[in-house]
Amino acid sequence: MNKPTLAIIVPCYNEELCIENTVNKLFLVIDDLIKKDKISSDSYLYLVDDGSKDATWDIIARLHDENKKVKGLKFIRNFGNQKALLAGLEGVRELGCDCTVSIDADLQQDEWAIEKFVDEYLNGADIVSGIRNDRKTDPFFKKLTAIMFYKTMNILGAKIPPNHSDYRLVSSRALKIMELYPEKYLFLRGFFNEVGLKTVYVNFDVKPRLAGESKFNFFSLMALALNGITSYSVVPLRFVTVLGFFMALFGLLVGIETVIEKIFWHNSPNGWATIIILLCIFGGIQLFCLGLIGEYVGQVYREVKARPRYVKDIELK
Ligand code: UDP
Ligand code: MG
Repeated sequence: MNKPTLAIIVPCYNEELCIENTVNKLFLVIDDLIKKDKISSDSYLYLVDDGSKDATWDIIARLHDENKKVKGLKFIRNFGNQKALLAGLEGVRELGCDCTVSIDADLQQDEWAIEKFVDEYLNGADIVSGIRNDRKTDPFFKKLTAIMFYKTMNILGAKIPPNHSDYRLVSSRALKIMELYPEKYLFLRGFFNEVGLKTVYVNFDVKPRLAGESKFNFFSLMALALNGITSYSVVPLRFVTVLGFFMALFGLLVGIETVIEKIFWHNSPNGWATIIILLCIFGGIQLFCLGLIGEYVGQVYREVKARPRYVKDIELK
């Protein structure tokens, strides 16, 4: 078998303080793997500048002039880390590679775990996902929300292992299948997890940031979590329908009970009963209808995304 070409994708947003250091460190890994005969010598780096406002792109352009193995692109504005990652995956798919690893520009993920990723790839895995050993470097709030997010996702039916990250290796086969998912807000962690290719998990250590500060805030994390939930689950919509149904049912039962009491025991409660009963029935019906509409909106939503209905594994011809 020919040695695989490895492309390392690095999304960068205002990373002028780290980027050069990061590139040097990643080349140490690449050179080491080339020396060990695990990857081909035309392996390269692919840097995606997510519309940085600092000197990040100037540094990347200079590094490219010095070494053509530094490739990349620049966004016209900041589109967010997930879009940068997506552009990186599509970029290396076009340039050509056998497998690709995505890693953060601050090298918080242990870059030497890439060797383990490549070993798993050579053993036949299509996707190798990095799992953090712990979240020691995360602030308390981020730790808490991350745990809540993965718990919610699992309850809602999208099976994503906790402490999952965007540090992963994917094969060119996985990249090709990604082309069949044209949805604009593809949730990468969900996609690679459910695509159906052989997946292996590798643990890695998380380090503090090299330099600069975290580019994520509460709202960008919320957006990531909400996109994950709505693109992989319609359970919240269904929940509204079920809630409305039971509320209306409850109102109806209390109503029947009141009427029966009135007829047989001549025990008529005060006016509050009528109010509560009507409130429950109408509130319930409204919620139920809203949920029902939601089901249709959900259906349209699923269709509009135009995901493939199935993906062939092997074809015999
Ligand atoms: N990033 C990006 N666009 C953004 C925000 C972040 O491309 O809008 C990149 C950033 O440069 C880094 C990676 O995404 O390479 C992870 O960001 P960061 O380290 O700030 O996040 P944290 O480690 O705090 O989750
Ligand atoms: Mg980081």
